Amino acid sequence: MRAQGRRTMRWGAVAAAVLLPLGLASPANAGPVADVFAKLLVKQVKGANVTKHLDALQGIADANGGTRAVGTPGYAASVDYVAGRLKKAGYKVTRQPINYVQDWSETSPPVLAQTGGTTWVPNEDFFTFEPSPAGDVTAQVQAVDLTLPPTPTPTSTSGCEEADFTGFVAGRIALIQRGTCAFATKIRNAGKAGASGIIVFNEGQPGRTDAFVLDIGEWRAGVPMVFADFAVGQALAANPGASVHLKVDSDLRLGTSDNVIAETRLGLPGKVVMVGSHLDSVPAGPGINDNGSGSAANLEVALQMAHFPVKHKVRFAFWAAEEIGLLGSDQYVEKLSPAERAKIKLYLNFDMIASPNHAYKLYDGDDSDGAGSPAGPPGSDRIEKTFERFFTSRNLATVGTDFDGRSDYGPFIAVGIPSGGIFTGAEGIKTPEEAALFGGQAGVAYDACYHQACDTITNINATALDVNADAIADSTARYAFELP
Ligand SMILES: [Zn+2]
Repeated sequence: MRAQGRRTMRWGAVAAAVLLPLGLASPANAGPVADVFAKLLVKQVKGANVTKHLDALQGIADANGGTRAVGTPGYAASVDYVAGRLKKAGYKVTRQPINYVQDWSETSPPVLAQTGGTTWVPNEDFFTFEPSPAGDVTAQVQAVDLTLPPTPTPTSTSGCEEADFTGFVAGRIALIQRGTCAFATKIRNAGKAGASGIIVFNEGQPGRTDAFVLDIGEWRAGVPMVFADFAVGQALAANPGASVHLKVDSDLRLGTSDNVIAETRLGLPGKVVMVGSHLDSVPAGPGINDNGSGSAANLEVALQMAHFPVKHKVRFAFWAAEEIGLLGSDQYVEKLSPAERAKIKLYLNFDMIASPNHAYKLYDGDDSDGAGSPAGPPGSDRIEKTFERFFTSRNLATVGTDFDGRSDYGPFIAVGIPSGGIFTGAEGIKTPEEAALFGGQAGVAYDACYHQACDTITNINATALDVNADAIADSTARYAFELP
């Protein structure tokens, strides 16, 4: 009780001390207040201090076999470092446990047989999806939004939407067609609909008929799941109401890791601004650009704004297991109640912000590039504009980068939370146009050490790190006082 009381007073005093000399506390002045704090934070966040966090992460990797991958002592030490610094600065810090696949093996071949009909050949007509849980079920098969015959090019959205399962009877085996969305999405939706087993069959175009081995990184439906060839799918679809025996004999072992979540004590609880970066590396290396860079910058921004009298709650997230399927952010978003989800007004993601052959790429919130995935949820366009204005104020060019779901914003945009962020490039090749805009070498990868042992402290462009840390400071401080 006593500690808490003291803390409240101290925070109140700090808020007054920061606000009063500026004299801009009236709500009518939200714009100027946001400007003032954005400028202040940009000044306080220094590249040299961000680099100190990178040095610490490199030291952690060096002491732990050269990696900070999830499930290793290097990741655990990274969590301790970040959580420790945030706690000391006054944040409310939580470690949120998340699951990942530690080990999976198949003990005997799977079984797929129609009651009173065909028994299909395992590891030829169909394969167990890795990492399918074990299970042995006999139940009626129910087709889910199939496109038969298949269209000339892939179009099937079978199982991609939860609505595809309206009318699905829980306890039945879901029959799903490969198509335009991720296997994991279909599997998750089938699991939510109460399927007792899942059969996904190849879509049916030339080159898309066979079954094969596939690791989809998804197990949470909790039921046996297999990938079958198109002929199996056709046969089952032609026999509605038939029962099938489906068995997977596997050993799935899950590990536990932690997301680090730190939230300001001040700010309206109903208006939360989230800033995230993944903290894990790949097993091959220390992950200093990917993604020590984003995490170090977010950490320094958090530390420097710890005493800001924020209007909205600012919640910093350091995600576990991004490199093995966005598991930390995905499980975080999945566990939010609808009410908690509605409080998150926007999400900023920073993954690889100091690539040695960098370009300043902004997530294409408005789809102005017209490339790849569509625009982000409404509001993402305005987030992109905020970043653009910052870079313009420094006379720096930017280009767009598609919202392709390759980082932790994916689960946020999937549930309609406006998102944005900066990316300086991974294994992609810098174009001559980009070399003209940003310097560096055309025809060479943005980060030639992407996902390799050489992603060390020397794999960092100091200028990009400094500029982007300022851009993060600018947007985070701005949104802490005024939503876009
Ligand atoms: Zn990354």
